[in-house]
Amino acid sequence: MSLADQIDALLPQTQCTRCGYDGCRPYAQALADDATAVNRCPPGGKAGIDALAALLGRAPLPLDPSCGSEAEPGMAWIDPEACIGCARCLPACPVDAIIGAQRYLHTVLERDCNGCELCIASCPVDCIVMRPRVVGAPAPAPAENRAHYQAHRARAQRHAGERSALLAERKRAAQPPDARSSQ
Ligand code: SF4
Ligand code: SF4
Ligand code: SF4
Repeated sequence: MSLADQIDALLPQTQCTRCGYDGCRPYAQALADDATAVNRCPPGGKAGIDALAALLGRAPLPLDPSCGSEAEPGMAWIDPEACIGCARCLPACPVDAIIGAQRYLHTVLERDCNGCELCIASCPVDCIVMRPRVVGAPAPAPAENRAHYQAHRARAQRHAGERSALLAERKRAAQPPDARSSQ
């Protein structure tokens, strides 16, 4: 296992980007490259910083306040009265914890929401808010977050591939027959 893999295994996998990187894996890679500090992951908190410092042989530091503060993960909630069904929050969620379709009310799967807050800024009518999690319903474990994120990425890549194939086919069909037969 590479050093970046070992570091990544210590991160919460919420993909919240609060560390300043585009997800947990890029932060892990930057740590492996000795290009960043161990104290930039609020979801991991003090325990996470201590674990990273021990693995990397560095001194533990207090959490960098510019990245946020350590807190219990909340859960997103969509106001059903205000949601206009625009679907902009769907791609923003790194773990596909929001369900809904264009022009229909969207809702959050409590079980899968890890509290990353990335959906909030995507909503044009500000109808997503964070709430405390229901007692007895803990946030997903890192392994669950990782599995959900990998499924999200695979789905996004599949859709991108299908979309580019569709566009290529439309472009081909729009060409005159002579040009089409020469392809
Ligand atoms: S969970 Fe931590 S390492 Fe992962 S993206 Fe958020 S701040 Fe960065
Ligand atoms: S629903 Fe919102 S807060 Fe919850 S995991 Fe998805 S993007 Fe993050
Ligand atoms: S972005 Fe906001 S308004 Fe649009 S579907 Fe999501 S919750 Fe509803």
